[in-house]
Amino acid sequence: MNAWYNALLAWYHCAKREMPWRGHPDAYAVWVSEIMLQQTQVDTVRPYFTRFLAAFPTVAALAAAEDAPLLKAWEGLGYYTRVRNLRKAAQRLMAESSGEIPQTAEALRKLPGIGPYTAAAIASICFNEAVPVVDGNVARVFARRNLLTDDFTKEPNRRKLAAWLQPFINQVAAPGDFNQAMMELGALICTPRNPQCHSCPLRPQCQAAKQEVQADYPIIPKRKPLPERHADVVLLQERTGAILFKRHADERLLAGFWELPDLGTLPFNIENPKPCGTHRQTFSHFRQILTLFTATLPDSLPPLPDNYQWCTQPDSLPLTTATRKILATHISGKLLSHQKGRKK
Ligand code: SF4
Repeated sequence: MNAWYNALLAWYHCAKREMPWRGHPDAYAVWVSEIMLQQTQVDTVRPYFTRFLAAFPTVAALAAAEDAPLLKAWEGLGYYTRVRNLRKAAQRLMAESSGEIPQTAEALRKLPGIGPYTAAAIASICFNEAVPVVDGNVARVFARRNLLTDDFTKEPNRRKLAAWLQPFINQVAAPGDFNQAMMELGALICTPRNPQCHSCPLRPQCQAAKQEVQADYPIIPKRKPLPERHADVVLLQERTGAILFKRHADERLLAGFWELPDLGTLPFNIENPKPCGTHRQTFSHFRQILTLFTATLPDSLPPLPDNYQWCTQPDSLPLTTATRKILATHISGKLLSHQKGRKK
């Protein structure tokens, strides 16, 4: 009973946070939560998870989901490839196994969007498979505990740590709890800044705490600055309040989402475009800098191509995050009065 992981498990059973997917008997729910939690904080995920499960309660419902409601349910979570892969995986499961979710990490990894971490999490939590997870939280805990200098953004180093953890997880009755305990410790106690070592169950073995070098671990490799992509977009609003949107052109990244149109490629001429703000957003591989314009509409408008629409209820559309933020900031009396002079 004196092994370090017993102290960790005892701590976990007292300290774990309540989460809507914890204790859920359904592997589908755990799968959805794990995909949402990739690159997204727990507190952000909670309401999305509940809404998503209400809209798509089963593998079959997800497999049959149309683009618009699916993207709407994910709107604001970002990294939209995740939800597309989720549906693709659900469709494959419906075709190959009547919607049944595989029970081993190895089989789970064959599904779109499921990497080693997610496969290990689902297999251990739902099916009790003894396979360790190594995410950023786990890597930080053990980099400090064992003074590891590996770069844990690299998959081979994560595999090496998983191999080190394997004999320990083999000895516990609930591998899912072992994994969740390590992740919870990294999220709540062994935090990136100011770890709470006095409350940590791993304190007796922790080399970083002993040498007071917690802040030096894990070693974070310097990242190259991200390239910047600039674009000019325009916020056009009719007297009715309808706003002009364009369907995103990229077939991969944000396909199916609507956004404000580019200033330079509108299907009609506008008058007096005026810059009225800048919006910045960081994606995984680049920084986007949008300059926002408003303008006066022409007296008569031509019919629009299929990829444009006027919409009075933007909330009904799946919108890009940048567009939602711009609308929240700029839809105001000032903008409306700028366009008030337009004749019908
Ligand atoms: S003792 Fe401190 S540094 Fe070591 S694992 Fe615990 S919280 Fe992290």
